[in-house]
Amino acid sequence: MIQTAFLGDVVLTTPLLEVLARRHGAVDVVTTPAAAPLVETLPAVRRVVPYDKHGNDRGLPGLFALARRLRAERYDVAYLPHRSLRTAALAWLARIPARVGYRDGWPLLYTEARARPRAAHEIDRLLALAAAEPRGERPSLCVTAEDRATTEAFLREHGIVAGGGGGGGEPFVALAPGSIWGTKRWPHYRELSQRLAARAGLVVVGGPEDAGLGDEIVRAVGGGGGRGRWSAVNGCGRLTLRQSAEVIRRAVALVTNDSAPLHFAQAVGTPTVAIFGPTVPAFGFGPRGPRDRVIECSGLACRPCSPHGPETCPLGHHLCMTSLTVDQVLRAIEETGALHRRD
Ligand code: SF4
Repeated sequence: MIQTAFLGDVVLTTPLLEVLARRHGAVDVVTTPAAAPLVETLPAVRRVVPYDKHGNDRGLPGLFALARRLRAERYDVAYLPHRSLRTAALAWLARIPARVGYRDGWPLLYTEARARPRAAHEIDRLLALAAAEPRGERPSLCVTAEDRATTEAFLREHGIVAGGGGGGGEPFVALAPGSIWGTKRWPHYRELSQRLAARAGLVVVGGPEDAGLGDEIVRAVGGGGGRGRWSAVNGCGRLTLRQSAEVIRRAVALVTNDSAPLHFAQAVGTPTVAIFGPTVPAFGFGPRGPRDRVIECSGLACRPCSPHGPETCPLGHHLCMTSLTVDQVLRAIEETGALHRRD
């Protein structure tokens, strides 16, 4: 499998990996160094081959060097969910005899080109690459005992949980306010956090690039909503991807934009409130759980305005996000039942 797309795409590919592992045995995965920790612990994966396509392995020299390494492995078949020329060329240069991709990718470089269903969840579209019947699969993530222990220590150190581990104890909500694309970021997380902190602890998850957003939330909460009982902590850039997934697993709910943490929550089964702005769930990246909720602005003619969401709103008003209120999000969290007493 060669899958060097974004983190969320890699997570959504895990059901396909499981199908392929059942069919062929554990799979070798070529992916980015950033995404490697998300797949290297999966039972369906034999080995991860990092491809730093924008760094050490960039350009044609990197592509040819990796192709030589793959050729030496004498693989029988390559599955190519990422429809890039680079991916298609890599499998072709590696002389892998069977190369399965999508018809709307680079079919001349594949030996088998499959149709990519248009109106389907991305997980189901990916399963179509293996002609597998979709059954409402959720993505998979495997955290290690060490990931769990480090996360537990982090949550205790910052007063989010007092102990007990394993998901019991104090309720806290995970927040993922970041996104690579500017217009996908809902701008009201601070106000949401101030109101939520009266009811639950808060943990902000994200990468180092989201640390500023996390700091703003922690400052807004001001070190605890009620005599310091409920705390907010910023885990952006301080927790690894798998530790962030463990935070999300232990949270009673995740509030997120249309970004990778949404798919993490799907993998670990945490109820999700997903805020969609310039993109729509019909693109195939929405949550699928029975307790999940989507917040979006209906009736805005400019939505959706691009496949990923532009960096800035081309119309200047960004109403697809700014018009979504804190009350709407709080109501959706209520609907998940997350803040009610757990059994
Ligand atoms: S054009 Fe519309 S959908 Fe796109 S960012 Fe602006 S408000 Fe949102």
